[in-house]
Amino acid sequence: MSRTFGLVGLPNAGKSTIFNALTAAGARVEPYPFCTLQAQKGIAPVPDPRLDRLHALFPEKKKVPTTIEVVDIAGLVEGASRGEGLGNQFLADIRNVEAILHVVRCFEAEDVAHPMGELDVKRDIEVVETELLLKDLETLEGRRERIAKTARIGDKQAREELALLDRLIDALKRGVPIRNASLTAEEKEKLKGLAPLTLKPVLFVANVGDSGENEHSRKVAELARERGAGMVVIRGRLEMELSELAEEERREFLREYGIGELAVERLVREAYRLLSVITFYTFVGPEVRAWTVPAGTKAPEAGAVIHTDFRDRFVLAEIMRLEDLEQYRSDKALREAGKILRAGRDYVVQDGDVIHFIVA
Ligand code: GDP
Repeated sequence: MSRTFGLVGLPNAGKSTIFNALTAAGARVEPYPFCTLQAQKGIAPVPDPRLDRLHALFPEKKKVPTTIEVVDIAGLVEGASRGEGLGNQFLADIRNVEAILHVVRCFEAEDVAHPMGELDVKRDIEVVETELLLKDLETLEGRRERIAKTARIGDKQAREELALLDRLIDALKRGVPIRNASLTAEEKEKLKGLAPLTLKPVLFVANVGDSGENEHSRKVAELARERGAGMVVIRGRLEMELSELAEEERREFLREYGIGELAVERLVREAYRLLSVITFYTFVGPEVRAWTVPAGTKAPEAGAVIHTDFRDRFVLAEIMRLEDLEQYRSDKALREAGKILRAGRDYVVQDGDVIHFIVA
């Protein structure tokens, strides 16, 4: 299952452009606000050098990377939490994603209108953040109202929840997003049903023009740092155009301009890092494949990602290290060298493990 990310930002920040670069899906891209009328969804493969290395050992097999699902979320403008622009629809779309990619316009272009008149990355970022904060405030206050009565008549659970809500409402009113409110895992669990928007991790995406980094993107970097968030600079339009080229042409272009890696690739990797997930690998059958599970997943559960009945039929997992495979060239040689770990049901899968599941 793919992990889901939502692209948010003001109209004309370049969300659809970056969505296209990520998914090469050809979403409509036009210089008018609200051209993205509904959330567009697309799938982007996760570039993974370890998978490439494993594939190099089994070139005859097909390489299957993990993927992320990207949602292009439309209509966030000042006042959206009160129903301006496309209003509440976008908020519903954000609720469904696991993490937020906050696209900030850092390119100047006279022919592309700016919804607030002119570029000011600090204000632009704050407009988006404020809408999310206000929406959370509304959600939490609504919940508070619903449970206040139960809390009054002495229900302990309701009282605890009320105290938590009061704390968070107070934080939101001071402009503090819920992710920065030092919640315990237990408290986060309690909030799950409400799915607060400002609890989701954020990665800033500075969309710059063809000439690359500039004063605006440097400012975004600074603002991201202040928030303890990550940031990626991307020449959105250029990368979208590149994504339309055939693979070979694209590589050629990159070589010519001395570009090691596309920013979209870095973007996907950084986005992935927002979630506490790890990647393991398999090479059984016709595919060399990467899989993603939450950190801390035990072997039978990891197997279940491949095939649901692996959970019950699990006998053991043979764990190999990529470096050993590269040294010994085959799992047979690895076995003879005693370099395969035979792991039972309680084994916690580690990032980078190469696994053979033995099932009954
Ligand atoms: P969205 O409303 O956030 O989805 O923004 P779009 O991706 O639709 O982009 C709005 C307009 O800005 C489109 O006309 C894009 O072609 C244009 N655009 C995006 N990136 C750049 C860029 O780096 N430079 C210039 N000049 N225009 C860009």
